[in-house]
Amino acid sequence: MTQSEHGGAGEKAAFVARLQAYVGGPAKPASAARDAVNQAMIRHWCDALGDTNPVYTDPAVAGRSVHGGIVAPPTMLHAWILPGLAPEPTEGDKLTELLGLLNAAGFSSVVAVNCEQEYARYLRLGDVLTQTSVIEEVTEEKQTGLGTGHFVTYVTTFRDQAGAVVGTMRFRILKFRPAQRPAAAAPAAAPATPRRPRPTVSYDNEFYWAGVQRHELLIQRCAACQQLRHPPRPMCPHCQSLKWDTVKASGRGTVHSFVVFHYPAFPGFEMPYVVAVIDLAEGTRVVTNLIKVEPQAVTVGMAVEVEFVAVDAELTLPQFRPVGA
Ligand code: ZN
Repeated sequence: MTQSEHGGAGEKAAFVARLQAYVGGPAKPASAARDAVNQAMIRHWCDALGDTNPVYTDPAVAGRSVHGGIVAPPTMLHAWILPGLAPEPTEGDKLTELLGLLNAAGFSSVVAVNCEQEYARYLRLGDVLTQTSVIEEVTEEKQTGLGTGHFVTYVTTFRDQAGAVVGTMRFRILKFRPAQRPAAAAPAAAPATPRRPRPTVSYDNEFYWAGVQRHELLIQRCAACQQLRHPPRPMCPHCQSLKWDTVKASGRGTVHSFVVFHYPAFPGFEMPYVVAVIDLAEGTRVVTNLIKVEPQAVTVGMAVEVEFVAVDAELTLPQFRPVGA
């Protein structure tokens, strides 16, 4: 390799050493929660996520539970410490400094890779959290599907008013140099008619796609409590049974909700198109496209029926049209 923007091997090693000097040091300045753990924020969280567990919101039920009172959903851990719209302090913000070095070296794009939280105990109303964070790892340059980059991991530790650790959060990001697209070659190489994306067929949903091939809309049914569920998954969310069979849906239903896509354009889709949630007559819902109807004519409650559409030589999709269209 010649001396280029990528740098020689020695330069690269020096750059990695400069990045790794941050490891073990603080990521963000320590901070304290703006509010104590409180019922209002818990209620909003539960509303937003559709979590109806009464130990989070009903003092009477929570009092009789193993917790002996209201507790916060564990996954709210990070929410308690968020600074809101106030600007974060820049002094001592070593993570931003580190990411700045990567930006300056051309690793200008970022993607969150994964987040792991561990909980030491449930949080109770009135708990007041503080956080400290440490840069745990900066990798050497890695080749990824997105481009060449460095993984950066930092760990936030949450403590209560007594200084006891209540949880930790490990957050990993990839700072990468976006892969260069061969701009001139791309149009010539692309197929004349882009195809729709293929469904991901797995052990859990292969029965569904096999049914579609036979022009049957199969809905999973719990063999223990008989509740229908869709999309397919291994466990019944109502009774946790792993046993299931299927029912063949009539294909009739009504529009529960819909959106009309005008932008952005995806290869294989003709714009605009309608994505709808259908209430099936059998009592569960499917997400699908509506066809044979002008987008502006679609209404909530509209009666629809399934049509199995061969969108190309290899792919058939269950789509829905107004009844009789
Ligand atoms: Zn069940």
